[in-house]
Amino acid sequence: MPEIHHAETGLQKTLPSHAKVVIIGGGVVGCSILYHLAKFGWKDVVLLERNELTSGSSWHAAGQIHTISSDPNISRLQGYTIDLYKEIEELSGHSVGLNMTGGFYLASNKTWYDYLKRERSKARYMGLDQEFISPAEVAERHPLIDPKHYYAALWDDQDGDLDPSGATYAFAKAARVLGAQYFTHTPATATTQRSDGSWDVTTPKGIINAEHIVNCGGLWAREVGHMQGINNPVQPMEHHYLLTDRIEAVANHPTRLPCGIDYEANIYFRQERDGMLLGTYEPRGTPWKVEGTPWDFGHELLNPDLDRIADRLEMSFDRIPAIGEAGIRTTINGPFTFGPDGNPMIGPVPGMTNYWCAVGVMAGFCQGGGVGLTMAEWMIDGEPSIDVWAMDVARFGDWATPDWGTIKSTENYERRFVMTFPNETLPKGRMQKTTALYDRLVAKGARMGQSFGLEHALWFADGPDDAFEVPTFERNRSHLYVAREVKAVQEAVGGIEIANFAKHEFKGAGARAYLDKTLAGYVPRAGRLTLTPMLTPKGKLYGDLTVACLADDHFMLFGSGTMQDAHSRWFETTLPADVSYQNVSEDWHGIALSGPKSRALLQKIIREDIGAEAFNFRDLRQTFVAGVPVILNRISFSGELGYEIYCRPQYLLRLAEAIEDAGADLGYRWYGARALMSMRLEKGWGVWTLEFRPDFDAISSGMDAFINWKKDFVGKDTTLAIRDVGVAQKLVTLTIDVDGIDVSNDEAILHDGTAVGYVSSGGYAHRVGKSMAMGYVNTACAVPGTLLDVEILGVMYPARVLDGPAYEANGANMRA
Ligand SMILES: Cc1cc2nc3c(=O)[nH]c(=O)nc-3n(C[C@H](O)[C@H](O)[C@H](O)COP(=O)(O)OP(=O)(O)OC[C@H]3O[C@@H](n4cnc5c(N)ncnc54)[C@H](O)[C@@H]3O)c2cc1C
Repeated sequence: MPEIHHAETGLQKTLPSHAKVVIIGGGVVGCSILYHLAKFGWKDVVLLERNELTSGSSWHAAGQIHTISSDPNISRLQGYTIDLYKEIEELSGHSVGLNMTGGFYLASNKTWYDYLKRERSKARYMGLDQEFISPAEVAERHPLIDPKHYYAALWDDQDGDLDPSGATYAFAKAARVLGAQYFTHTPATATTQRSDGSWDVTTPKGIINAEHIVNCGGLWAREVGHMQGINNPVQPMEHHYLLTDRIEAVANHPTRLPCGIDYEANIYFRQERDGMLLGTYEPRGTPWKVEGTPWDFGHELLNPDLDRIADRLEMSFDRIPAIGEAGIRTTINGPFTFGPDGNPMIGPVPGMTNYWCAVGVMAGFCQGGGVGLTMAEWMIDGEPSIDVWAMDVARFGDWATPDWGTIKSTENYERRFVMTFPNETLPKGRMQKTTALYDRLVAKGARMGQSFGLEHALWFADGPDDAFEVPTFERNRSHLYVAREVKAVQEAVGGIEIANFAKHEFKGAGARAYLDKTLAGYVPRAGRLTLTPMLTPKGKLYGDLTVACLADDHFMLFGSGTMQDAHSRWFETTLPADVSYQNVSEDWHGIALSGPKSRALLQKIIREDIGAEAFNFRDLRQTFVAGVPVILNRISFSGELGYEIYCRPQYLLRLAEAIEDAGADLGYRWYGARALMSMRLEKGWGVWTLEFRPDFDAISSGMDAFINWKKDFVGKDTTLAIRDVGVAQKLVTLTIDVDGIDVSNDEAILHDGTAVGYVSSGGYAHRVGKSMAMGYVNTACAVPGTLLDVEILGVMYPARVLDGPAYEANGANMRA
């Protein structure tokens, strides 16, 4: 049974009236943030816990720890977390009960073996020590496992288990050694912001005023958020694990047995005393307390329901027979909180000042240390040291409602050990946001994806019945349809919906000066467009944006749709009084036209002359197209002649009909995101969250080509310093000698057998007929012509670094 470390109450009896930071919640996450803040120099930090520390889900966790995660930076932070346990144990004098046994990821079929090969490839360039071992070796290391069920296993030395309560207390006590304080039996009952931006946190022991507050409410994250009108889309889920009676083979084994995960059986297991612990994520998850977590829920467990996990147990008893033969000593059913995509939601809450959260941390003992590190860096330094987009609370907007949160968090629970293929779109929580074209495009055969809650076309089949694809790592049936779309764009004209691009509007006398300082590139004159990177003070990329000057005091920035709340948060913190700002992404939908006949099409439905002389590349107009008021940008992300037409959502259908009619005799075809991604790949253009992200700077990403060095801008000094010192890695475009399969992301790039980088994105480039990738490699390997290898599903394929775009290097089509 999990143990509760009672009566380890904070030594402080009197609540201070002020602190720099108040953390609400004393689970592993809150305690880790407390520790990291104190470690990095903010000693005046206070944690409030309504009951004893660990009183949410932390006390009854299974305590298994591992580094594997779908996001490489989360994997890195999981590695950091595991390495940290020794440090906090020593500092606090409190045992964390760490057993570094190493662990297996077991593949029982070829598909799971392929999945693990992808993980192994990631581990290669991340420097993680993972190796494949045979089923026979699995049985040698863990004699209870029947090897006949397995293809292979990935072994990781860094896996193991710990005592969850011990770890939580070690964080808290280590924080106290460093000067932080925590108060148990001190619930926060209200949070109120003062006019100076600080927060009053009300407790039965008095009010404490803080510069910053952090919601680490765990099982009560929703309730703590509600105190401030915040709806975190998280959901506690019921979860079972069982502990067996004594098993002789375990008791007599000379060393502690390794832990493991069997994906197909959907189980995790480890040694617990002289028996085994076995947990499973059942295929039909059970959300707990959808209506809200009761405040009086204490150190309680839920009634077990073994019927729910019976089929999983049967499979696991086949694979680890000794568990089936042993009696079940205890079954634990406890709730813990999931988020919509399974990753934590942390950081400054958009739209708020000095209000932070670290909620939905589903694997707190794997991730808690990394979350604490990141939060402390973000609060103290103003930005985390690595890109934590996969955990940033801003990746969910207000469309991520509580209902949607419950649906998606449940889906995520059910898919905890279920693979998501690169071409797979998850079924739940769909049609949360749609545009006026949704039905029209679906009727034409659109296969839809979802981005920042909004449905958008991925590719077009021959009709709704034809719009399917099998999840796979390999090229799939959409390949030929995407080829057709690209051909239409290259030879005639295609249209893609662009509602999912973000639009940020700035107005006011100070708008130009503000943007000049905030953006590293050129701010255009009225009627023109520019492309620019946006950098953090540390010189990291924080945006790649198109700037449109509508009037001298009126600008629109177009950028990544998924990043829109993060960008709003960024702008709002630095906005001067003479500039007004609004995220107007939902107020402007639109269609982009691309292809040599796009001008002819557009000219049919616009009164003004848009000939090459009259309307130049990177010009913009506020005008009418098909009788609809629009912002018309002459720009294209396809590499062909093209236009972006932005209109108010209520005009979108009208615009689309007019385009279809006008394009009927010009070979017009709708195209989707996959065709666009293929075309930008052969132009060597990066995309936000893939090539462009805060892990990289303007120099390594090549975005320095767009910098206006003559002006002062955020991140200039650091970027100059980076330029002087030289960068360790550079973004390159590669062709790969491979057929039938393409890279997706995160594959290792090797030189002479050594990992020198990774793939940020890739796929098939239809216009040049090649498999391609973009990625970051060591600078010495970035020289055009360098021969490298790219690992795809365990096979090394020859690749070559390109010297510029693979398609139409001079850009003549686009500028025509
Ligand atoms: C059965 C089970 C098995 C698990 N196995 C593993 C595992 O093997 N490995 C792993 O990494 N993770 C595991 N987990 C998940 C892990 O337990 C959680 O990720 C982790 O506990 C989350 O920690 P937390 O601090 O976010 O939340 P919690 O532990 O829920 O802590 C939140 C704290 O906030 C306090 N609080 C809430 N509201 C207030 C308020 N208003 N004022 C003051 N205090 C407040 C609560 O009392 C509570 O102590 C498991 C969970 C369960 C249930």
